[in-house]
Amino acid sequence: MQEKIYKGIVASPGIVIGRAYLLDRRKVVVAGRRIEAVSVDDEVKRFKNAVEISAVQLKELKKRFTKGLGKSHLYILETHIMLLEDKMLVDSTVKRIKDSHLNAEGALKDTINAIGVKFDLIEDEYLRERKHDVEQVGERILRNLVGHKQESLADIKDEAIIIAHDLAPSDTLMMRKDKILGFATDAGSRTSHTAILARSLGIPATVGLENITEAVKTGDVVILDGIHGVVIVDPDEETFLDYLKKQRKYKYFEQELEKLRMLPAETLDGHVVHLQGNIELPEEVASVADHGGTGIGLYRTEFLFMNRQTLPTEEEHYNAYRHVAEKAWPHEVVIRTLDVGGDKIGIPGGFEKEANPTLGLRAIRFCLQKLDIFRPQLRGILRASAHGNIKILIPMISGLPELYETKKIIEDMKAELRSEGKVFNEGVEIGVMIEIPSAALISDLLAREVSFFSVGTNDLIQYTLAIDRQNEHVAYMYEPLDPAVLRLLRRVSDAAHQENITLAMCGEMAGDPLYATILLGMGFQHLSMNVASIPWVKKVVRSVRMQDAVELAGLVMQQPTAALARKTAEGFIEERFPELVAEM
Ligand code: PEP
Ligand code: MG
Repeated sequence: MQEKIYKGIVASPGIVIGRAYLLDRRKVVVAGRRIEAVSVDDEVKRFKNAVEISAVQLKELKKRFTKGLGKSHLYILETHIMLLEDKMLVDSTVKRIKDSHLNAEGALKDTINAIGVKFDLIEDEYLRERKHDVEQVGERILRNLVGHKQESLADIKDEAIIIAHDLAPSDTLMMRKDKILGFATDAGSRTSHTAILARSLGIPATVGLENITEAVKTGDVVILDGIHGVVIVDPDEETFLDYLKKQRKYKYFEQELEKLRMLPAETLDGHVVHLQGNIELPEEVASVADHGGTGIGLYRTEFLFMNRQTLPTEEEHYNAYRHVAEKAWPHEVVIRTLDVGGDKIGIPGGFEKEANPTLGLRAIRFCLQKLDIFRPQLRGILRASAHGNIKILIPMISGLPELYETKKIIEDMKAELRSEGKVFNEGVEIGVMIEIPSAALISDLLAREVSFFSVGTNDLIQYTLAIDRQNEHVAYMYEPLDPAVLRLLRRVSDAAHQENITLAMCGEMAGDPLYATILLGMGFQHLSMNVASIPWVKKVVRSVRMQDAVELAGLVMQQPTAALARKTAEGFIEERFPELVAEM
């Protein structure tokens, strides 16, 4: 049998090898049919009964997860329970049964389809997520209507890698780590709830594989590489042995790295580097410290706006940020103001459709136009700054006017709080993301206006090389070591040092051990990354001398192409630090 390789989206790191379990979560096949007028009342009763059973099941689930890790994610179950009480789904179905004399299954299917069409028309990503919730709840009711038992992950007896079209967050909550080795899904993105939960539960996962459920049967041997977002079905012997080795190596390094947790991120010649975590959820803050990080270099606040129909209040902002700041104390928490638009999530209220959303009304541009959204967030951050070591980070700054305007609004919010007698840190530091080439080019001017820079290479590379970071056809051009990117980084570093402000990086580049060495040599003092990368980068930092890193950065800067830069860097590491090669 020929092995098949599928590439998806990295959701949660780790390598697992095992038997597949194809979770039958997709469609229950039901037939819509007409019913006699006399049967309408019975049919409505049957439907309401299935809704009732669904509510009981969800409440039962909720009860099971009111303790432990699942607790903070209970709102997902609550959303589903609310949908069962929602007119949109239940009343419309009842109306269809009555008006069209359809059986309950047919009426429910039609209702879900009609709701789906409406959502598709709006084309708002936030609402698309809601559509997903409606479908999942609808599927549950359907299963209860046809008496088709809801397959539960809690019932799985043998170790398995779960293959599913999509998993509801409630599925993920039920995953027992001793049975569920990992999971792979057709649908999903890195920021879908399921992916985020997988990371916080430490379950390796790859999502967005598009058609993995068609390629796998229960019992097939599967390799799931959550580090690279790859799934290999029916691996041949060579691949299998290769991955066994990779898996062992990964586990070994994980154990070795665990020992570094409490040790400082300090080079052999005594230079301290701040290794920090990027987080999206307040509850991720503990795992930064668990992985040996010192503080949060990027708190993406978009999550606060997701999965809801109303905007978060100032109080919600305040509570979330205060919680993170207190947990991270005495370390710093860099809170990035809302970065929506482009490839990012939508928010309640929606977005107008744009032809080029990545070049459109996103991040700070959006916030400066929507002060009713921006102001409560700023007030929340400022108030939370009284309870910890908080800094404010502004995304997507492209020039000075935007920065002046933003700083003015922050000053206005401070004045408001002062007059209301509310406490905040008067000296709260403000920094900007450097993620647009224009910002990098005028970094000398920006550096005079802020306390720190945080370079966002995910976007900076996209805009510098004109490659859509979402487009798989040009992904091969996405090159952190491209000379154009390196020259911008150097320029930003020079500007930061000239003005004596802190230089940080929070783009994915910072979490790659090879790049991290170069970045050290370029003068980056803070590297913020996904928590799983912290131990690896710490190992590298503790193994090199700053003078070597500086030399390496100089050599890499001289290379005319990314390929040569990479070759140079790899050769250098191999020669000076052969023990690190395996890590890279
Ligand atoms: C970046 O652009 O590098 C970054 C850290 O921000 P995001 O990935 O959220 O755009
Ligand atoms: Mg960005």
